[in-house]
Amino acid sequence: MLYSVKMRSAQGGPHEQGGRHISGAERILSEEKIEQAIVAMLHRAQKHQRGMADFISLKVEAVKTADIFYRPLLPLSSCQADSVMTGRKAAVEELVKAGVSTEAAAAGISRIINLRDSMRGAMLLDADTGLRVDSLGERGVRVSKMDCDNSERYEARLLEKGLFGDHVREALVLASKVVSAVGVVAELCWSDDPEYVTGYVASAKYGYKRIPVLKEYGNPIGGRVFFVEQGTDVQKLITYLQDQVVLIRPEDK
Ligand code: AMP
Repeated sequence: MLYSVKMRSAQGGPHEQGGRHISGAERILSEEKIEQAIVAMLHRAQKHQRGMADFISLKVEAVKTADIFYRPLLPLSSCQADSVMTGRKAAVEELVKAGVSTEAAAAGISRIINLRDSMRGAMLLDADTGLRVDSLGERGVRVSKMDCDNSERYEARLLEKGLFGDHVREALVLASKVVSAVGVVAELCWSDDPEYVTGYVASAKYGYKRIPVLKEYGNPIGGRVFFVEQGTDVQKLITYLQDQVVLIRPEDK
């Protein structure tokens, strides 16, 4: 039996009562790994760069094996960029290559830049027009119920590329789920951790393109945009992203 373990933390009370989102994390694990995961999540909630949480929610739910979808891990490669300007230029190029219009790519970047504070979830934008297609406001679409299928193999794959740590570990799993969804053309992300300036563009066609710098050091605003093909059933897409259990499989070598 597998279990979904989720944490979300906020400052100023629970999210649903207007608290400011501080951090979130999620794993899908076997029973014997639950305790260790909860302790790690608690530490993370208590020591986040975005501030001190006064609300922490931890949820453990059993997952039915029959409900699990398996999807491949995206191949990972890096773009060159040594400044915010060159990083954002690379992001637009990667988005356009993946099938997003130049206008929509620019709209995605400016939507993240113009956030007053980081959202808990992602914005869905039309990949042609750049207009927002979800109506979830400042909450956005929170992708949930995903993890890697084989943690040891997954971490070994990342280490081979010189990568480690929670940011990339979680982002690559999330991106692999997101771009496996019907209708998603590409994803753009940079972190809200003030000390983490790296971001990425992901697509089913070209994989996960890590971009070394997408924001200024010290900036606590980050975000995610999922670019969606016209004609997509947005409600079905949101249900897949929020509720479908997906385990990501690193390929055998
Ligand atoms: P992070 O990479 O965790 O710093 O997150 C960067 C931004 O991505 C956050 O500010 C949220 O807007 C968004 N985000 C984080 N986690 C999720 C998620 N599970 N689903 C959708 N968007 C997310």
